Amino acid sequence: MPQSIGFFGAAETVTGSRHILTINGRRVLVDCGMFQGPREIRERNWDEFPVSPSEIDAVVITHAHADHIGWLPRLVAQGYTGPIYATPATIGLARISLPDSARLAEEEAKHRAKIGSRHNPPLPLYTEEQAYATLKRFKPVKYGELVELPGKAQFRFHPAGHILGSAFAEIFFENGERIMMSGDLGRFNTPILRDPTMVEFSEYLVMESTYGDRLHSEEDPLDKIALILSDAVATGGAVIVPSFAIGRTQELLYYFRQLEDQGRLPRIPIVIDSPMAVSVTHIYAQAKEEHDDEMQVAVEEGRSSLEPSGVSLVRDREASKALNRQTGPIVIISGSGMANGGRVTHHLLRRLDDPSTIVLFTGYQAEGTLGRRILEGEPVVRIHKQEVTVRARVEKINALSAHADQGEMLHWLRGFKTPPRRTFLVHGEPPAQAALQEKIRQELGWDVVIPKHGETFEL
Ligand code: ZN
Repeated sequence: MPQSIGFFGAAETVTGSRHILTINGRRVLVDCGMFQGPREIRERNWDEFPVSPSEIDAVVITHAHADHIGWLPRLVAQGYTGPIYATPATIGLARISLPDSARLAEEEAKHRAKIGSRHNPPLPLYTEEQAYATLKRFKPVKYGELVELPGKAQFRFHPAGHILGSAFAEIFFENGERIMMSGDLGRFNTPILRDPTMVEFSEYLVMESTYGDRLHSEEDPLDKIALILSDAVATGGAVIVPSFAIGRTQELLYYFRQLEDQGRLPRIPIVIDSPMAVSVTHIYAQAKEEHDDEMQVAVEEGRSSLEPSGVSLVRDREASKALNRQTGPIVIISGSGMANGGRVTHHLLRRLDDPSTIVLFTGYQAEGTLGRRILEGEPVVRIHKQEVTVRARVEKINALSAHADQGEMLHWLRGFKTPPRRTFLVHGEPPAQAALQEKIRQELGWDVVIPKHGETFEL
């Protein structure tokens, strides 16, 4: 068996992407994500890695979201000493996000030590020091550059259009066959970034399926944002936006700026309450090589497409707490994007029971997260051990998703000139995966499988 693939994360779930390719006896790990969501899934972060980290020869990372890179520091702490290949922009984002996620874990461990925990003493998943040690292992690889991998394999990255630096990894085996690892597939015709690359050939395909059973609505995000903001101004309420620091926040800023340019942005203070989002926005604005045509023109003309006026940036904790006391209309954009932690939980705790509040979701809400419970209309939710009655209005803008919907995935798949011999669906909840599998079989007649956690396939 010269090559095989094993699925050890994001199998029948949306987080914890970890796929191990065994090529001529050597091991290449594609993505090393953190498990997020309900406790029973999060606890997998504490499990031993399925193969000893010292026996992995190389790591290839598709993009900088935590569910694709968030477990790297633990892999390194447990003995991984090889290279971690990623695009330069992914590395730039990881420099911000990995130490940040370590600091959060350390703070949380301290907090649990104070309130008493069944783990004694409570430990962080990894430390800031371990995150910095991980950053030293990164090796930048530009889109299109061919890089040698152990086992006489090679790979190159192609733009995936999902977030800055996101890539498909096309991995070639010694026999000339290849496997395309989609990472997360972005959307077509969205602002700031270029569209996903169309792919014509690959013997094997590993594809995400987050929105495999859904079509994003055709609504114009600008109209919807304008409406929500004017409602907030009318009622004097707050708009709380749980937002992913990487990607979504920058798109929101882009839309606010467009509304402003069109004279449709009402006078309302907009606060980005996330130190990480502030740093990431700078990286987005500077990454010229990844900008789409409109963004390039704006940059050349000296317009700051990611800087609407009236936006203030909050880095420190005290200023964040002070927002709780602020009355009148305000937009608070804060992490985490699924409201399963981070500063946004404090804003929700303070304002969810107020009927003038609008909670605006901008992305996928995984099973078991606070975001999912609010979105599904639970009347009472628990936040930081307190019960809160949900009186706020809940809105969602699907058009802001960074993931392709079913139609866009099929559009991308139709770009293949020859069907892959086998397509593996990962990174989706079972209903979404089943729907997409059925659709691909019906419309394209391809061989599509949904791997189970821990399952391995010969290639
Ligand atoms: Zn992603």
